Amino acid sequence: MKVRTRFAPSPTGYLHIGGVRTALFSWLYARRHSGVFILRIEDTDRERSTQAAVDAILEGMHWLNLDYDEGPWFQTHRFDRYKEVVGQLLDAGHAYRCYCSKDDLERMRSEAMARGDKPKYDGTCRNLVSPPSAGAPYVVRFRNPDSGEVTIEDQIQGLVTYQNKELDDLIIARADGTPTYNLTVVVDDMDMAITHVIRGDDHLNNTPRQINIFNALKITPPIYAHVPMILGPDGKKLSKRHGTVSVLQYRDEGILPEALLNYLVRLGWSHGDQEVFSREEMINLFDIKDVNKAAAALNPDKLLWLNQHYLKQGDTGRLADLLGDAMREQGITVELGPNPEDLFLVQRERFNNLIEMANKSRCFYEEITNYDQTSAENFLKPEAIEPLRRLQQEFEGIADWRDETIHSALTTVAESLGLKLGKIAQPLRVALTGAAVSPSIDKTARLLGRERTLSRLKRAIEFIEGSRIIP
Ligand code: GLU
Repeated sequence: MKVRTRFAPSPTGYLHIGGVRTALFSWLYARRHSGVFILRIEDTDRERSTQAAVDAILEGMHWLNLDYDEGPWFQTHRFDRYKEVVGQLLDAGHAYRCYCSKDDLERMRSEAMARGDKPKYDGTCRNLVSPPSAGAPYVVRFRNPDSGEVTIEDQIQGLVTYQNKELDDLIIARADGTPTYNLTVVVDDMDMAITHVIRGDDHLNNTPRQINIFNALKITPPIYAHVPMILGPDGKKLSKRHGTVSVLQYRDEGILPEALLNYLVRLGWSHGDQEVFSREEMINLFDIKDVNKAAAALNPDKLLWLNQHYLKQGDTGRLADLLGDAMREQGITVELGPNPEDLFLVQRERFNNLIEMANKSRCFYEEITNYDQTSAENFLKPEAIEPLRRLQQEFEGIADWRDETIHSALTTVAESLGLKLGKIAQPLRVALTGAAVSPSIDKTARLLGRERTLSRLKRAIEFIEGSRIIP
């Protein structure tokens, strides 16, 4: 049997981190078993579904490279098929028309509550032979078995049993004929020959109902795996107040897709104490049965740690392109400074995300508009004038502008003035970047280029002399 899994988001909000982890687990399971992964957009809730949310789902899947073999299928394109199956269930007596009004249902509800029972449809229309009046509006209800039980052999949760008498005769088609969630999911999982349903455990309660519909249709239900939810770092249910909601926000905050996937696969799943997994390793090692039953909490530090790992290890060309994009997005004219690859090679070890790396690289592309006050107070002092002047002279004599030649110019000046290298490097750093923190000084000067280095040195000297108040 060929494994077929699906990710079936409802486009009613952002594609959030929990949804993506479910998608990842389904995708991994399919890839691990050389199966098929399907994307299905569950957009039957027309009021709450938006095109923007559909686009964000597709963009998120694309960004994370969670490629699907079939789809995206849209449930709104399949209404005729749902209608057909509702008809089939009606014909076979597994469903019936229910004419109860809102008031009737409300009355049933309060009576049940008064008795201390769980509110549930009382079956008034179950055995109706004809409609109460011609053309009376109705919904279609599934005739749930009265007795017996449904046991789910959940790959994560273990055996979960529900008593049929606890389950309602749920509505499968509304008064306007539109199908409801539990019906559409079953029809789609059946038609798409899904073998494994991997989804959030908020759907566990729906599963016995869906299994009963499968049984009524004489179709073997898929194997289920309900993934526990993700908690915020504080151990509370994840919500907007925890910050990032949409998965694309991670991208916009400089997180790499491979870091996010690696991070997500480890939320609730482990393989010994291994933390770093390439795509191939994830595929080879992942098994849905090993996913933890307990909810996992987000750990933003770990995500940043992984992101830094991938920044250090990843393909330079690709990451440099991403850095270039991030700089452009921050309004930096990349053509006015070193090429992003040279910059990236210098900066890759220093930051754990690309956005910050881009932002902190501004001084290589734009003139400095002011010195960081503390740095200037500490290092752009009168005693720095002499070393800076000497550096100017040395640098002017360098024809071959490289880390080594720059470094040896610094050493020459330091030695001739009897100063430690740091005493020269720090004023130079502030002169060149506007602040006291930057990559190693020879690389900083090399990236800036000789002309820019010389003009910034000149300005810093003038600043100290007092003839300039700003650089
Ligand atoms: N559309 C459902 C949701 O977004 C998922 C249904 C399913 O996976 O069965 O929560």
